[in-house]
Amino acid sequence: MLSLLRHMVEIESPSDDKAAVDRMGAFLGQVFERLGGKVTFYPQQEVGNHLKAEFHGGASDRASDKTAGKPTLLLGHFDTVWQMGTLARMPFRIQDGRAFGPGVYDMKAGITMMIFALRALKAAGVAHRPVTILLDTDEEVGSTTGRPVVEATARECEAVLVLEPSQGPQGHLKTSRKGVGDITIRVRGRASHSGVDFEKGRSAIVELARQLLEIVKFTDVGRGLTVNPGVIQGGTRSNVIAAEAWAEVDLRIARAADASWLEQKFAALKPFDPDCTIELTGGINRPPMERTEGTVRLFGIAREIATGMGMPLEESSTGGGSDGNFTSALGVPTLDGLGAVGEGAHAANESVVVENLFWRTALLAGLIQTL
Ligand SMILES: [Zn+2]
Repeated sequence: MLSLLRHMVEIESPSDDKAAVDRMGAFLGQVFERLGGKVTFYPQQEVGNHLKAEFHGGASDRASDKTAGKPTLLLGHFDTVWQMGTLARMPFRIQDGRAFGPGVYDMKAGITMMIFALRALKAAGVAHRPVTILLDTDEEVGSTTGRPVVEATARECEAVLVLEPSQGPQGHLKTSRKGVGDITIRVRGRASHSGVDFEKGRSAIVELARQLLEIVKFTDVGRGLTVNPGVIQGGTRSNVIAAEAWAEVDLRIARAADASWLEQKFAALKPFDPDCTIELTGGINRPPMERTEGTVRLFGIAREIATGMGMPLEESSTGGGSDGNFTSALGVPTLDGLGAVGEGAHAANESVVVENLFWRTALLAGLIQTL
């Protein structure tokens, strides 16, 4: 497992480098074919080609009814947030029981686990539902092109197991995730010389500042709804009244119904200064993954399997989104956070606990066998 993981980490695959991501996809396609999978690529212009691999349900002589049933979907992505060349300063290494490297936790370890769970089931001759693996290539940048492929695939599946990183040092599974969005608010005012023509100017910066004070009032932490202006920019020089200013605002919602509520609040914003204009782009791009009955049932099965191995297993909710948000919103039972136990997704200390890779892979195999 570690040598496969190392190999995948060393094929760097940042979302914005199509050639690099396609190298990773080509490698995975070969691995899946060797495992007996039927591989399909979904060609893309800007981002890497998405990848699907379909596996039948195991040994025919021991086939049960399930082997002809709807597949279990193993979901993930093979793009990372790390720029090409990161490997030079953050090489794959194993230290103090942890494996480090760009994308190791989010989520090349999860893909390694998928491959080894299938290998184990095959070696043991266990019959199970068909398995579909779907890996997209723009998850880290919002799944714009991945989303329709993920949704079309999930619709045909019985359940979705997401191999994204688990939660916290105990490796909790994720049974709910917040919905995610972003809105850019752009204000246009009127430029003028701050000394000579002060009164002719209309400051886009002042107008934007006033708008942001309205926007942050939408936050309701108790309801799981937060609004964060995370980037702000505007103006040209201190002696010029700013003609333009804009801010990027991150949105998180715990409940699906809050998407339209929040978008309406934004749409209702009016300029304080009638000589300024406001333009909004964006919105909610991932619906929340709510803790549905189907998800709770999947978690119950996972916990039982873990208990059988003498391992405790808990569930958590998170403010971060994944492609599991899409499948869950379609009503397909979805269990997330089945990937590696570790820390530092998107951070320099990104790493996975090596010892936990093995029982978590057994847990995944057990789930595929049981569902
Ligand atoms: Zn991820």
